[in-house]
Amino acid sequence: MRRKPLNTTSRSKLTKYAKPLANLAVLLAESGSRLERRYWKKRLFAMLAPILEGRSDTTLNQTLEYLYGTHYKAYDELAFAIENTVESPSLGESEDLLLLAVPILAWSTYNIPSGKIEESLVAEFTQLIKSHVLSEHSHLVLTNMLFSPDQLPESYTAAAELARQLGQAALDRVLVRIDTENLPETQSFLSDVRYLIGVIAVPTGQPAFKWQEEQSNGSLLSKEDVLDKWRTMGSQALQKLMPGCLLELLLPNGLYNACREAEKEARAYSVRASAAFLESALDVPVKDIHASVGAFVERGEIEEYRIGFSIEDSPEIVHGVVWPLIGEEYGNEPDPVYEKDIQSEPDNPVIRSKIEALLKDVGIRHIAVLEERFPLEYCEDCGSPLYPNPEGELMHAELPEDSELPGAHLH
Ligand SMILES: [Zn+2]
Repeated sequence: MRRKPLNTTSRSKLTKYAKPLANLAVLLAESGSRLERRYWKKRLFAMLAPILEGRSDTTLNQTLEYLYGTHYKAYDELAFAIENTVESPSLGESEDLLLLAVPILAWSTYNIPSGKIEESLVAEFTQLIKSHVLSEHSHLVLTNMLFSPDQLPESYTAAAELARQLGQAALDRVLVRIDTENLPETQSFLSDVRYLIGVIAVPTGQPAFKWQEEQSNGSLLSKEDVLDKWRTMGSQALQKLMPGCLLELLLPNGLYNACREAEKEARAYSVRASAAFLESALDVPVKDIHASVGAFVERGEIEEYRIGFSIEDSPEIVHGVVWPLIGEEYGNEPDPVYEKDIQSEPDNPVIRSKIEALLKDVGIRHIAVLEERFPLEYCEDCGSPLYPNPEGELMHAELPEDSELPGAHLH
């Protein structure tokens, strides 16, 4: 669930459309039995369906914002119900649908591809996912497009429209071709996530994924087993689509779950990619890289960490990584100013301890975890985030002038 307010300015009054939705979410959150829960859930799904057929997310966002501030459990229920309704449009008589995302972590010193996929590769990926990730009952329709995060549908209503379009194709057993010409330009990063998107149709009551399907000896495969197999079988095929990239495949799943998990995984992946990049591009041994970790705050909550990389004793930042807080992490990260000596629990370390452990694991020896908070600042010219250096100054990341690599820019 997106446990994060979108915009806390309009918390006061609910519109006449938002009010019944908020009430229903509260009733669901406070239900005292499965019987009651089921009743409210059904009512909530029925109320959400027509809203998601509209063009605007206003009512949904307003209700979420209101509940975030007034009734957290109801907020959680509503966010979950919206995501479920978006991903699984009720179109089929005897088949259920799920909007599927197949996340791929990639890093490359060249551009990471996105956009149109050749027909033959769409067919090959469809077959591979069916064989190694989905149950034998699932029918899959993939789009002919490799999505970057900023090409995914931005709103709930846009995602719902895509799910309906793909869902109908899955039910009709036809292919989907989407317009790949007029998509937003994608920003170029050293490491990033790409997604294959599709819909699966499965007869009601049947398992959708391999890990739900009973094996001949009555046992179940774990998700790890399925992921291992998918990595082995899928990597080579995806490499054809993304030449020059180092890839790591993640577990395909429903859109929202898969995207959240991918965003989480992408953070550590990007730290590892950065260390490898600096080592090879600047010819600097990892032990000479300095990493400075700072907490960036908005509206009194830690929004993200940023890691600035510098070389030896130079204060210049040559590269940086943003580490956003995601899902339940948001709002639960102790403030470094007030809780300097926080004892993190072994099973649930605070994020900055996790980042520190990761940097050490990568081989970086000089790590400064700064005990201060920074404002979310960006470069006014190019919009790129500013990163802290070891002295706690916010800097623009600039590769040294003599390195002729993408990402080196001056202004
Ligand atoms: Zn700039």
